[in-house]
Amino acid sequence: MTVDIDWENLGFEYQNLPFRYLSYYKDGKWDEGKLTGDNQLHFSESSPALHYGQQGFEGLKAYRTKTGEIQLFRPDMNAKRLQKTAHKLCMPEVPTEKFIDAVMQVVKANADYVPPYGTGATLYIRPLLIGIGDVIGVRPATEYIFTVFAMPVGAYFKGGLVPSKFVISRDYDRAAPLGTGGSKVGGNYAASLQAEIEAKNAGYADAIYLDPATHTKIEEVGAANFFGITKEGEFVTPLSPSILPSITKYSLLYLAQHRLGLKATEKEVYVKDLDQFAEVGACGTAAIITPVASIDDGKTHHVFYSETEVAPTIRRLYDELVGIQFGDVKAPEGWIYKVQ
Ligand SMILES: *Cc1c(COP(=O)(O)O)cnc(C)c1O
Repeated sequence: MTVDIDWENLGFEYQNLPFRYLSYYKDGKWDEGKLTGDNQLHFSESSPALHYGQQGFEGLKAYRTKTGEIQLFRPDMNAKRLQKTAHKLCMPEVPTEKFIDAVMQVVKANADYVPPYGTGATLYIRPLLIGIGDVIGVRPATEYIFTVFAMPVGAYFKGGLVPSKFVISRDYDRAAPLGTGGSKVGGNYAASLQAEIEAKNAGYADAIYLDPATHTKIEEVGAANFFGITKEGEFVTPLSPSILPSITKYSLLYLAQHRLGLKATEKEVYVKDLDQFAEVGACGTAAIITPVASIDDGKTHHVFYSETEVAPTIRRLYDELVGIQFGDVKAPEGWIYKVQ
C-alpha cells in the first residue's frame, strides 16, 4: 500500500495512524499488550493522570535508510528513561524488552507511514504511561496504561537546520530545583506553556529556561537541551539535576569527543559567560539540532555565528548524528536497532 502524504512538507502534527499499542497494568502486573485500531483511550474520570499529573512519556523516531530498511536510534535509552520517570512518580516500570517490543510492533504495523529516505521526515513515536482507575485521593494509581502511538513528522522547529532566535525566560521556570525537571512528565510542559506562547508571540522560536534556584545558569530550551562550542573549540552542555537528560545531547557529547576529537564537557553554564560560545545549538529527538542564532535576555542580545548560515562545528555534529540515524554513517556499537 502507498499512502498519499506530502513527505517534504510535514510539520509536527498529530495523525491518527491505523495502529497503536496498548497494555494494561492491573493486580501488580502488565498484560501481554496488543495493537489496536482505536485511537481513543477509555479510563475512569477519576484517574490520577488527569488530576494529579501521574504520567510520563517518551519520544523517539524510526528512520528509513537508503536501502529502504527501518531503524530506531537508541530505543533502550528511552526505555531506561521512562523507567526512571516511573520511579520518580511512583508508577510501575515498563521493562526494557516490553518497551522495545511495543515500539517495534507499532513501527512494523504502520510501516507505510515511515517516510521515504531523503525527505528528512521520520516516524515520530510517542510512548505514554498513565495512572488510571477510581482513585480520587492523592495517592498513586493501582492501574496503568502503557500505550505507544506514532505519526510521520518533519522538523519540530519550523525550517529545520536554520538558525533561530531564542529568548531567556525570566518570568517562568519549567521545573523546581528538586522537582521533576529531570523526568519526562507532562507537568513540566504545562508549566512551560505560558513562557513558550509569550516567546513565540514575541517572534522567538522558544524560551530558554534558567536554573530555578538562582536564575544565573542556562538549563535548557522548552523541549530541547542546550549546548555550545566555545571559542576554544570545546563542546559544553549544562549540568543540572533539573535538566531533562536528552539522549540526543548525550549522543552529541560522545560524537563531539570520539568522532570530532573535541573536548566535550557537562558543566555549569552561566548566563554572564554566554559570550564564551562561538556556536550554540538546541538538541533533541524532535528538534534534532537547531542552531541558535541569538539569545535575548532583556536588554542584552547575544549573537552566535550567523543568523542565516549554519556554524561549521554544528554542521559536522548534525551530519554525524543524522548520518548515523539514517544509516549513512557507521554507528557506535549498540546505537541502532533494525526493525524487521
Ligand atoms: C524530550 C526532551 C528533550 C530531548 O530529549 P531527547 O532524548 O534528546 O529527545 C529535552 N528537553 C525536554 C524538556 C524534553 O522533554
